[in-house]
Amino acid sequence: MRLTRLFDPTTPDGERIAVLGRRLLPLQTNWPGSDAVTILREWFVESLGIDPDGPDYQVHAVPPLLISREATVNFVREALLGAGPALHNSHGRDHRDDFAVVTEPECCDGDCVTVTLFEASASRARFALSWLRQAGYEATALYSETEDEHRLHVLGGFIPATPADAPAEIHAAQHLWLKGFSSPTIRADVYVEVPGPTPPVPVAWRPGWLSTDIAAPHGSTAKQRKKVANAIADSFRSADWQVDRRGPEALHICPPSTP
Ligand SMILES: [Zn+2]
Repeated sequence: MRLTRLFDPTTPDGERIAVLGRRLLPLQTNWPGSDAVTILREWFVESLGIDPDGPDYQVHAVPPLLISREATVNFVREALLGAGPALHNSHGRDHRDDFAVVTEPECCDGDCVTVTLFEASASRARFALSWLRQAGYEATALYSETEDEHRLHVLGGFIPATPADAPAEIHAAQHLWLKGFSSPTIRADVYVEVPGPTPPVPVAWRPGWLSTDIAAPHGSTAKQRKKVANAIADSFRSADWQVDRRGPEALHICPPSTP
């Protein structure tokens, strides 16, 4: 037969493909499925360094910015203890009393943990979310009826890298996420809505500016929504964005101009 191959086995990647060929081709015609799958899975691990049961970002051209550890009770507790005094209420007390981390087997097939922060303000809860997200976790606040107890849902995850030339609304959304703000419900089966920013969108009549509003569950008060809007405005200002308050719950924001 004529050689029609489209790769060069003398390159490092070509040699990896050749490894797979040397294992699969001896199976001859009609590869038995179970043999072929075993060979492929081993090849992914040994030749490509890819976990066949892992997430698909392993093959993305741009690797994630951050990848979390697994969301186990021990890893998440360790991450939270690492936040130091910013997360904790007390001095000289064991910080383990400030929060509890548990696995609920019926939630996310046991792949997630729930963190309860005792005697924590909303801004402390946002700090905890921000801290966990900056460790790569997919962390979201659960709506809490009580003022000073907050619960967070934490899954293993990753933070995608945002290219510098991405649209401003992508940078704004990533800023909000990393600062611990939650947008309205992403997964209705797990997350309960908390007051948070609507996704920033360009303002048609104001080039360069984005607008965001506050979305909130029924029953949240105007005061709660305004507090969230204030915190969002502060967080953009401290990142050198321009902020224009358009009302108690509405903001226009403009990214810092790069010199
Ligand atoms: Zn869960």
